[in-house]
Amino acid sequence: MQQINTIKQYYLDLGIDERVYDFCQKIENGLRDRFIEIDQIAEQNQVKVIKAMQEAHFAEEHLNGTTGYGYNDSGRETIEKIYSNVFRTEDALVRQQITCGTHALYIALSANLRPGDEILSPVGKVYDTLEGVIGVREQKGSLAEFGITFRKVDLLSDGSFNYDAIRENINEHTKLIEIQRSKGYDVRPTLSVKQIGELISFVKSIKPDVICMVDNCYGEFVETIEPSEVGADMVVGSLIKNPGGGLAPIGGYICGTKKCIENCAYRLTSPGLGKEVGASLGVTRNIAQGLFMAPTVSAAALKGAIFAANIYERLGFKTVPSSSESRHDIIQAVEFGKPELIQAFCEGIQAAAPVDSFVTPVPWAMPGYDSEVIMAAGTFVSGASIELSADAPMKPPYAVYFQGGLTYQHAKFGIMMSLQKIVEKGLIVW
Ligand SMILES: *Cc1c(COP(=O)(O)O)cnc(C)c1O
Repeated sequence: MQQINTIKQYYLDLGIDERVYDFCQKIENGLRDRFIEIDQIAEQNQVKVIKAMQEAHFAEEHLNGTTGYGYNDSGRETIEKIYSNVFRTEDALVRQQITCGTHALYIALSANLRPGDEILSPVGKVYDTLEGVIGVREQKGSLAEFGITFRKVDLLSDGSFNYDAIRENINEHTKLIEIQRSKGYDVRPTLSVKQIGELISFVKSIKPDVICMVDNCYGEFVETIEPSEVGADMVVGSLIKNPGGGLAPIGGYICGTKKCIENCAYRLTSPGLGKEVGASLGVTRNIAQGLFMAPTVSAAALKGAIFAANIYERLGFKTVPSSSESRHDIIQAVEFGKPELIQAFCEGIQAAAPVDSFVTPVPWAMPGYDSEVIMAAGTFVSGASIELSADAPMKPPYAVYFQGGLTYQHAKFGIMMSLQKIVEKGLIVW
């Protein structure tokens, strides 16, 4: 009891009202069973990662980097072996030369498509930045400029697949199916790995040789299996999200079939050079240690998301996923409906940060997005969204997307602070 009161005093000293603290604490007390489940998933994934490192004979010598061309970089090659083991794929491309998730996805698409080919998204709208990549939104250098076309089929209103429309939209040009696992900046359900598997089976029953690519951003290690274990030919993601564990300072990954990854490597570097070049410059240690941390870091972020859903749903806001729904990514959306509420929410997240806690987030025209975006983040790795962060496009339904937290304790503090700011500004009646 003594200890609990000390914790409460800490929060009060940090500017949290007693009523906010008590409310949040009560919510957390009801989440114990769910947190235990998440810890069990983390345990399984932790062992999976360690086993992959051991089987690849990961060694101290691999932690040193190369410079220049980076030929025979055994650390880089071993990391790629470890990733392909964790994701159960034939091969992997894991590089800091992949600058972000969008870049990784662009490589995967442009490497495996040729003029006249068509992409089909059977899960509706693609992630905002990919609209520019594909050319759904006019963009210099887009795949559309290279004669690659795009179609999408929206999910049905209950979130399930529109199988009839998917069948109708697969034609002789369909070369690649793009499946975005996470909702991204959209209010729709995130797909479970099982659902992704069903979708892939359906699509392949119509066109067996089509490439199924999963945008795996934010989904890694949330379940005990990955989409590559249910038929995906490529899974793609960013190292400053889940699989980087907060330690990778840059990078992206593509895991998949030998053939797809070979194309990706030729696209990333150059035809003929492929995976043979790309100096690791000493970043291998962080990429490896980040992957090692990723299962527990992803679990911490997931607990934070569930805590947030329960807090804000209890206060009457729509949350996606809802407080009790099963989880397939670390993103939590809260529909606030009003710009002032998302502003206050973001101020709270910022105020709880270890870095830049004193700055006030304001909306800005971020490259790749079609409306202004407000972002709150005080991160060790700039822009890393596996670290506690929140962002919201400044447009209806004024939904905030909250994600990350290297520790659950930090995510909890951030959410408490967000509520504190909302209460202080008198934006809710409770
Ligand atoms: C973050 C994200 C991306 C793009 O990654 P960046 O690193 O921001 O370029 C693509 N798809 C989804 C679903 C994402 O969450």
